[in-house]
Amino acid sequence: MRKSLQGLSPYKVKPEFDMIRLDNNEAFMSLLSSVDFSKLQDTLINRYPAESSEALVEAFGRFAGFPPENILPGNGSDEWISLICQYALEPGDQVLVLDPDFSMYEKGALIMGAEVTKISLNDDFSLPLEMVKAEISNKNPKLMFLSNPNNPTGQLYGEEEIEEVIRALEEQGGILVLDEAYMDFAGESPFAGKILDYENLIILRTASKALGMAALRLGFLIANDRIIEGISCIKPPYNVNTVSAQIGAELMGKSNLLDQFLLLQLEQIAELEEIVEEFVGRVDGAVLYPSSTNFYLIKLEGAKDLTDFLYERKIKIRLFTDETLQAVRISAGTKEEHEKLREALLEWSEQYAKCI
Ligand SMILES: *Cc1c(COP(=O)(O)O)cnc(C)c1O
Repeated sequence: MRKSLQGLSPYKVKPEFDMIRLDNNEAFMSLLSSVDFSKLQDTLINRYPAESSEALVEAFGRFAGFPPENILPGNGSDEWISLICQYALEPGDQVLVLDPDFSMYEKGALIMGAEVTKISLNDDFSLPLEMVKAEISNKNPKLMFLSNPNNPTGQLYGEEEIEEVIRALEEQGGILVLDEAYMDFAGESPFAGKILDYENLIILRTASKALGMAALRLGFLIANDRIIEGISCIKPPYNVNTVSAQIGAELMGKSNLLDQFLLLQLEQIAELEEIVEEFVGRVDGAVLYPSSTNFYLIKLEGAKDLTDFLYERKIKIRLFTDETLQAVRISAGTKEEHEKLREALLEWSEQYAKCI
């Protein structure tokens, strides 16, 4: 192993199927029962995938409103994060990320030997635009990554501020990687119709969240022709497997089904909001942030204690314990899961209130 990589640690996920899993922002149900498996009988699993990826890209393009010739499919958007770093970064290059934001950006950059500067979000988790612009002109970054809406804050940034970031990077020859993993919950991407207007914009989308296909590992890179051509040169040729592509293409072609699925998720998100609002009202100092995603972030002092308490009751949530962020992130679940969550949160807040 390269010396410079020896401080990294694996992204560990324990398989725990008997738990209520509200920790990973996945959809709470699968659409697999709507797939016609008789078609899969004809799948040529002896052949390398090709045609299936094309159908997948067509279906995703129609669904998300991007031209198919500007979309590349990947093995989850995580694969794209690594490939973009390989595409753009020499050792010693500068990369900007926000803090907090998705941790894979920093990792992808560090693996390439790049230097990462983290820019703290404002206290209300809005974008510190002046600071971002100042760092862009100081550091001359090759790449900046940001998720919009943000994971873990849930906050949606405005089109105009993102556009200012793109323009500031363009002046320095840097690329913005705009990770829209949760955009389906927030509405249509403001950049859907305009991807060709930018020299230096890469959008990432995934089927893992609102589309409920995290296990299929389908992620998409969307960019102008020049970037698509360049990154195609380093992309592994068969990175999306035929079975995933076929199932993904079929489900993405069912727009009524996906619309209904999204509505169902939005209802559950509203239910979760009610639960966490009630909870935060009972806990001194706890702060709930508005969300445009399928999860809520709650800042509170007893974050670790709460996470352990719920874990004992077979409910997994995500804990953040950096110096800068003591918080939990809870993803939307089913009605039954929410009932159990509601009870456990009530129990904890009663015990916690007694302790202080
Ligand atoms: C979940 C998530 C991803 C990962 O998506 P995959 O397509 O499953 O690899 C990417 N970015 C953000 C911000 C996420 O939260």
